[in-house]
Amino acid sequence: MADFVYCWLRRDLRLDDNTALNAALESGLPVQPVFIFDKHILDPLPEQDARVSFIHQRLREIDSDLRQFGASLRVHYGKPEELWKELSTESGCQGLYTNLDYEPAARKRDGAVRDLLHSQGQRFEIFKDQVIFERDEVVKPSDAKPYVVFTPYSRRWKARFEEEKPVVRPLPSKPNFCPDPGIEMPTLESMGFRQSSIPIPPSDVADELIAEYGKQRDFPDRDGTSKLGIHLRFGTISIRRLALRAAELDEVYLNELIWREFYQQILYHFPHVVGNAFRPAYDRIPWLNDEAQFEAWCQGKTGFPLVDAGMRQLVETGWMHNRVRMVVASFLTKHLLIDWRWGEAFFAEHLLDFELASNNGGWQWASGSGCDAAPYFRVFNPTSQAKKFDPKAAYMKHWVPELLTGDYPAPIVDHPMARQRAIDTYKEALKG
Ligand code: FAD
Repeated sequence: MADFVYCWLRRDLRLDDNTALNAALESGLPVQPVFIFDKHILDPLPEQDARVSFIHQRLREIDSDLRQFGASLRVHYGKPEELWKELSTESGCQGLYTNLDYEPAARKRDGAVRDLLHSQGQRFEIFKDQVIFERDEVVKPSDAKPYVVFTPYSRRWKARFEEEKPVVRPLPSKPNFCPDPGIEMPTLESMGFRQSSIPIPPSDVADELIAEYGKQRDFPDRDGTSKLGIHLRFGTISIRRLALRAAELDEVYLNELIWREFYQQILYHFPHVVGNAFRPAYDRIPWLNDEAQFEAWCQGKTGFPLVDAGMRQLVETGWMHNRVRMVVASFLTKHLLIDWRWGEAFFAEHLLDFELASNNGGWQWASGSGCDAAPYFRVFNPTSQAKKFDPKAAYMKHWVPELLTGDYPAPIVDHPMARQRAIDTYKEALKG
């Protein structure tokens, strides 16, 4: 077979403005796009995982787009480190192009694949794609150390963004892909999955929504946020296109995209946050970890309507409004004194937009243990939060219809007692 290179798609499931794909196409060699359903990631997931259905559907769309060029997407199911031993020794393979993933497990996997290809004298080319600025690109000018506070980070991020606006590069009109090798895509069933019935939010939003975002985003009964999280997570949209639009339309929305990058660089520089508190002293908190109360929280049966509405929305739709995420996370870690890692894992299982860096950042923020976190003595009152952000109770009544019939459980904890208990417990544990 003639020489060619692979383009390995992972969390960049698009042909438009894809950095690694563009670079591969510029290599002068024909390009074979490939995706691997990773057994390590898939094995623990439930059989109706909505994200797996979404990825599968998206791969079919990419494959169909490639067919207009006489090409196709090769899709494999297995362990990437083993599959690459086979794929890289196929006749003509000169190596691979791919985009960076900053998660610790992905970095380890990519290191192993890079070493394999280099040992065979092949290329392993890797690019920034899923963020505007990565790793050391936005650090403190004084000592080149990473920022751990959001506001100065965002200021520097914006200054750089102004200086070097990202460039969007669509797929060239005559891309040089390998001819279709005629390999069937594995079905969901062959990998042990079934189609999920959870709908996926669209991958585009109107300019008006972004322009009004700052005014609407805090109210959970309104469609005031973009629900683009899943598309940013799997790269079904380009962050460069979205950030450029945000910069034109609404700075508040742009700030949220910067929060995403803030947590990405925290994860990159401080990988210990996976499984540990960002601030080590917080690992001394003696969590109560009451399993019955955790179950009530998971099922949306705590007797606090805003918490219960959020948890039911999450389980049913795979999404929860950000304001409510903050309230339910604070409730779990402060009111119930349940380890933030339990909540983090539950969110990871259910969120369509689950993103290790942002989820970990959000949980550590709520529990007080993270960088730029809410101070431990700030304990959200779920009832006053509800009055402020769902004043007509429309959101709560929608998700907790028993509120209308009166058949609703009593609160599982007393707010003033739980608040004081959290403050005392944290204070004692952090004494040092
Ligand atoms: P929009 O409000 O429309 O914002 C646009 C995009 O900006 C989002 O899609 C997201 O990519 C990014 N963004 C917005 N807010 C934040 C934030 N605070 N931190 C980081 N990025 C942000 N976000 C995730 O993408 N994945 C997670 O797993 C996740 N877990 C969270 C857990 C907790 C406990 C908390 C408090 C927040 C979490 N967030 C997470 C952040 C935020 O809640 C979601 O990004 C947002 O609600 C997604 O809805 P949206 O797509 O409509 O966002």
